[in-house]
Amino acid sequence: MSGIVFIISAPSGSGKSSLTNELRKVVPGLEFSISYTTRDPRGSEQTGREYFFIPREKFDAMIAADEFLEHAEVFGKYYGTAKHFVSEALARGSDLVLDIDVQGAAQLKAKIPEAVSVFILPPSRNELETRLKRRNLSDNVDKAIIARRLKEASKEIENFSHYDYILVNDNFETAVEQLRAIVLAERIRREGAQHTGEDQAILRAAEGCTRERSLPRVQSILDSFRQTTDSSR
Ligand code: 5GP
Repeated sequence: MSGIVFIISAPSGSGKSSLTNELRKVVPGLEFSISYTTRDPRGSEQTGREYFFIPREKFDAMIAADEFLEHAEVFGKYYGTAKHFVSEALARGSDLVLDIDVQGAAQLKAKIPEAVSVFILPPSRNELETRLKRRNLSDNVDKAIIARRLKEASKEIENFSHYDYILVNDNFETAVEQLRAIVLAERIRREGAQHTGEDQAILRAAEGCTRERSLPRVQSILDSFRQTTDSSR
């Protein structure tokens, strides 16, 4: 049986990497897609582990050869998911997690409508700013980049309505638990077997994260971004 494709998107600074790393530990049988990118490796990143780091010419050649399932420009660099990576994982029957931006998510949903998409939100604009500044101290990122990331985040968040599930990363443990519930609930649904009591609890937890159910929370987060953007004009 073919596996499930999970798309996870989040503005920079929402804690997506920590959450997906934890997800790896708590849910067995998940594979993580390794994208191609033209950006340089950061810190201890290694090609073939976090990304395949390639020059722009190679990326262009892959586009020309139609090797990408989706690709996009993010912060001035190119990122893409190779078709072979996804088809091989699905043929093995594995569930695959793709950490891609909102443009890539839209392209992928158009090609694989049954893919499950999750959008991770920071609790507020202020909190995102605090997290980006904290990271800034350790990574030596300049202020202009933080301002750009905040602006970018507010644009990305406007795309929340295209996602199946919305998760607010307010409390790390809760967010991990919710992400786990979403993955397990989708597996339970597709297996279509009789549901145990534990299954019911997982289905309920995932249900609480659906777009419809998350709307009131998302609305207040969106407002925190809109108010700041309006008053800074
Ligand atoms: P970073 O450079 O910080 O690792 O990632 C920057 C952004 O690129 C993140 O939003 C991440 O989700 C996105 N990204 C990573 N890989 C891909 C990909 O293959 N396709 C698309 N569309 N976005 C990606």
